[in-house]
Amino acid sequence: MISIEGLTIRYGTHKVIRDVDLTMKPGEFLTLLGPSGCGKSTLLRAVAGFVAASQGRIVIDGRDVTRLDPEHRGIGFVFQNYALFPHMTVWKNVAFGLRSRGVNKSETAERVEEALAMTGLSAHASSRPAQLSGGQQQRTAIARVLVTRPSVLLMDEPLSNLDATLRVRLRADIQRLHEDLNITTMYVTHDQQEALALSDRVGVLREGRIDQLDRPRDLYHNPANSYVCQFVGSANVLDTDTALRFGLRRPDAGDRQVHVRPECIRLTEHPVTEHASPGVVTDVTFLGLLTEYAVDVGGARITSLVGSHADGRWRPGETVSCGFDGSNAMWLSAGGAN
Ligand code: ADP
Ligand code: MG
Repeated sequence: MISIEGLTIRYGTHKVIRDVDLTMKPGEFLTLLGPSGCGKSTLLRAVAGFVAASQGRIVIDGRDVTRLDPEHRGIGFVFQNYALFPHMTVWKNVAFGLRSRGVNKSETAERVEEALAMTGLSAHASSRPAQLSGGQQQRTAIARVLVTRPSVLLMDEPLSNLDATLRVRLRADIQRLHEDLNITTMYVTHDQQEALALSDRVGVLREGRIDQLDRPRDLYHNPANSYVCQFVGSANVLDTDTALRFGLRRPDAGDRQVHVRPECIRLTEHPVTEHASPGVVTDVTFLGLLTEYAVDVGGARITSLVGSHADGRWRPGETVSCGFDGSNAMWLSAGGAN
């Protein structure tokens, strides 16, 4: 279990992590999600002990580790770039961490075999990293960490160097490993789908603060603000005039604007919802699984996403009724620094 209390990290005068509080449950898979430069790696590296806290505390399994060296924290860290020893076999790479921990030969053999089996690498034990695919190299890096039996697993963008197909396959491997081993895992990515697919909870980071920490479905359907809404998916953001065209007005809206996800926008011949307005189709983009329609509604561009198997009938220039259910209108403000 990990508990982070009031953590602040400064590089010189630059505050990279700003007063972050976060508690993980035992066995939880938690992902830090955010754009490049928002502080994800810094926060993860602080938990590992590679970066010192300027203020605040980090507690792992009831022990204050804030001032402890990385090797005394009981953590395993998986890097984006694998960091394998090129001249050693897979077997030796995995065994390496045990030697420095003084584990004897027979136990080392047993634990290495076990870690290789867990990561599906038994057949590659005598290969060198250069003879492996990117996915196998990253699985070796994961095996090398698992063999030390960490109480907490930290992973910093472990799939970023892989192509799209391998990324999805290794994502499934990580999911299965977590189900089998149930190790408390903190994971970092800038890929929203990866975060939503893998995690029990996702923390959306903006400039060193966590804007929202929630289960994937809650983040997606009930985002705390416009930033979170648009980082975990995409959204049509309606200005006041456009909202009025759809029959939406909220006297207490303040600086909040209506956000509607593209898959909630329906294009029909006649209005079918209370919140509908005529529009003209301007672009049709076939994306394979989905088809994207852009519709001009009184000068505003509204995007609709429809399953390609179910549709394909609107053409540019056609007039349609563009609408959505009131329950899909999210009133959100920009949020952020306060
Ligand atoms: P992310 O992993 O989300 O891309 P990082 O945690 O790597 O972001 O970086 C957050 C911010 O801290 C960036 O502005 C980055 O330039 C800065 N930063 C990261 N490491 C250092 C360092 N060692 N010294 C100074 N600034 C750093
Ligand atoms: Mg990073």
